[in-house]
Amino acid sequence: MNRDILLKVNHLKKHFPLGKGKAVKAVDGVSLHMYRGETLGIVGESGCGKSTLGRSLIGLYQPTEGEVIYGGRNLKDMNEKERFAFHRNMQMVFQDPYASLNPRSTVAELIAEPMDVHGMYKNKQEKMRAIVRLLEDVGLNGEHANRYPHEFSGGQRQRIGIARALALNPEFIIADEPISALDVSVQAQVINLLKRLQKEKGLTFLFIAHDLSMVKQISDRIGVMYLGHMVEMADSRALYERPFHPYTQALLSAVPIPDPDKEEQRERIILKGEIPSPIDPPSGCTFRTRCRYSMEACATMAPRFQEVGQGHYAACHLYDSDVVDAGKRQKILAVKG
Ligand code: SF4
Repeated sequence: MNRDILLKVNHLKKHFPLGKGKAVKAVDGVSLHMYRGETLGIVGESGCGKSTLGRSLIGLYQPTEGEVIYGGRNLKDMNEKERFAFHRNMQMVFQDPYASLNPRSTVAELIAEPMDVHGMYKNKQEKMRAIVRLLEDVGLNGEHANRYPHEFSGGQRQRIGIARALALNPEFIIADEPISALDVSVQAQVINLLKRLQKEKGLTFLFIAHDLSMVKQISDRIGVMYLGHMVEMADSRALYERPFHPYTQALLSAVPIPDPDKEEQRERIILKGEIPSPIDPPSGCTFRTRCRYSMEACATMAPRFQEVGQGHYAACHLYDSDVVDAGKRQKILAVKG
């Protein structure tokens, strides 16, 4: 994989004001980077801020604080021409193919719309050839061009959504839960399609999902979000083999293991209670109200997002030697593990 950084996000916050000094802190200080050509999976329960993060990166939401740097350029400093190129290079695939496609437009019109906005083709024939190529790229064909979205199955509609996202030859795709509205059998097909397209077109993917089972199939690295914060990030394999953060451990414990012997021994960690409100998150570590290892320091200090293994980051006091020494950590883990 290319190690050239395409996207960098520094301390990004997106708060939605409610008045009287209150706000929904949907994203509350997320930093990350993405390499060109990789797939970064972002996982977390609904309400953790993952979709808001995606929408803030693509410019659908204006960040409250922090920076988005794309191709070495800060979004805030981009001139009109650079911004236009940025919007062409970064595209989104939405969760609900039913809602994201205008039912009154034909497939050809839906795919042509972004092409027309960006003035991509000089004549109709050239544009139509490009539309048919895109339909073939996503496993449909030219005959589908003059049909309407309601004539397709959910999986086919998501393919149309993907073709539309590819219409401008982007280099970066944000896929916001692209498979969660689909049947399980169709989910794998869409994942395989995205993987193939990534390889063929050298795309960089931010893949947003609410559980860890499917994200493993597609991601090079995975970030886990909780209540507006990134709590863990690592290479996929490292995250699955050795999750550090108690929240990641709980999420992973819910994923079935294909090996029947291991599956039998799988310990399910049940999280207590509901995800707290992002309007009034818990002090210190926001996960502390549901964490089985919660200790005194967790209520008063926010944990640092620090390296716990090579390229493996976690935000938990258990792995911060300034807060918990190795002996104490062993004891905490042994008692409650
Ligand atoms: Fe649990 Fe404390 Fe770690 Fe937060 S900092 S995840 S509450 S042990």
